[in-house]
Amino acid sequence: MPVPASPIHLLDPKASYDAFLTLSASLLLARTPPDAIEWNDSESGAGSLFDPTLTPDELASFPRIDEHTSRITERLGRRGKLVAHHADPDRWDLLYRIAYRLSHGRERDLLNDILDPDTRKLETLSHHVSRDMHKMKAFVRFQRVRDAEDEQYVAWHRPDHRIMRLIAPFFVGRFGAMRWTIFTPHESATWDGQSLTFAEGIPADQVNEHDQVEELWKTYYANIFNPARIKINAMVKEMPKRYWATLPEAQIIEDLLQDAPARVRRMIEAQSTSAGATPFLPPRDVPLTVLAEEAQACAGCPISEMATNTVFGEGPPNARIMLIGEQPGDEEDRAARPFVGPAGQLLNHALTAANLSREDLYITNAVKHFKYIPKGSTRLHRRANPSEIRACKPWLDREIESIDPDTIILLGATAGQSIFGAGYRLHQSRGHRLTHPNIRATIYPTIHPAKILRAPKHEQPQMLEDFIQDLRTATQSPSPS
Ligand code: SF4
Repeated sequence: MPVPASPIHLLDPKASYDAFLTLSASLLLARTPPDAIEWNDSESGAGSLFDPTLTPDELASFPRIDEHTSRITERLGRRGKLVAHHADPDRWDLLYRIAYRLSHGRERDLLNDILDPDTRKLETLSHHVSRDMHKMKAFVRFQRVRDAEDEQYVAWHRPDHRIMRLIAPFFVGRFGAMRWTIFTPHESATWDGQSLTFAEGIPADQVNEHDQVEELWKTYYANIFNPARIKINAMVKEMPKRYWATLPEAQIIEDLLQDAPARVRRMIEAQSTSAGATPFLPPRDVPLTVLAEEAQACAGCPISEMATNTVFGEGPPNARIMLIGEQPGDEEDRAARPFVGPAGQLLNHALTAANLSREDLYITNAVKHFKYIPKGSTRLHRRANPSEIRACKPWLDREIESIDPDTIILLGATAGQSIFGAGYRLHQSRGHRLTHPNIRATIYPTIHPAKILRAPKHEQPQMLEDFIQDLRTATQSPSPS
């Protein structure tokens, strides 16, 4: 199937990321340069997925996405998917230009070049969409519809971007027992208890509002209100005070604040019987990106109350080697990325010395939130206790299940305790290849790089050399048959 001659008008504003990927795959195979394409993002388009220049039949005759373009999809990764839902009319241009540069421009490291204008724009737009999703999760308010035969809830929200399809699975997970519809100006999503469907958006004045919902939300908010997480400055930043009056729960915040110290104590007491992260897990078999997204809302143990970000693992979903550390530190918490602080820099050095590329590895932590005690303006790291390690284990289990690596390298005692239980002792296990009945990979324990940084100066060179040797030995392990 020849690709239409320039200029090409391809997608209307409602086109999905999958449609974009399918078209891009074909265009990349035909080596069509970005400046030969004019992506159509006009609201005044024909209203169908594709305009008459390229019919669905023509599209169907295009070659399927092959391995080559699947790799591009992987490289655009989560940021690409987020940007596809941005309101910026140039988003398809940007995504295709980056895909082309990665594919035909021999710019394999493009997305690591933070000075490149396309990379910077990808980063900025994906951040906008992430933030929009975060706000929608926080501020959607369901209203019970009075005249519905069955109990039915509706909500109206005005996101800045076209995020309905991205965010809907979150609401299914959170409110799966309710029948609901969420309206936005761009699109609506309906959950009937069984399936999720999408339709046209709708203006706010067509939504039947009902003040019974106030009681519903007051009860709900009182139940989820977390006194240890009160950050008044952050609340004002997220939601200017002028909006508070329209939110039912704002009326009970004062009462809840007065009860806060006692509730914090009760939460700590209740923690030993907590179900941990399990209630926050999405359904099985969701992509790793969804897993990472859902972990952002985890409150399975009290550590989350103090931390800024959930620091989930990162790396290719088909990585053969997985590194598991302890928990994020101060810099990781701020950057929302694992191993970016001093220990991460030492790890990078050791990986290079062991002839390993960090980009090929999946790197995560046993515990996904930063635990610390504040001291003046600094935050002093505190090791996660056994119940917190247990609480976070479901996320690690899902990461291992999803990546299914050949080799797992445990960095430090906490990682080992997460996998093998509180009886694990690093000094007894280091240097041995371990197995676990529920894990296919060979498991190799070594120290955490932070231990080298904490050691006396004169011991550091030998410790580092031993650590590098451990990395070499672990990755030379034969794959289990
Ligand atoms: S540390 Fe783990 S279990 Fe605890 S809140 Fe964070 S993600 Fe959830």
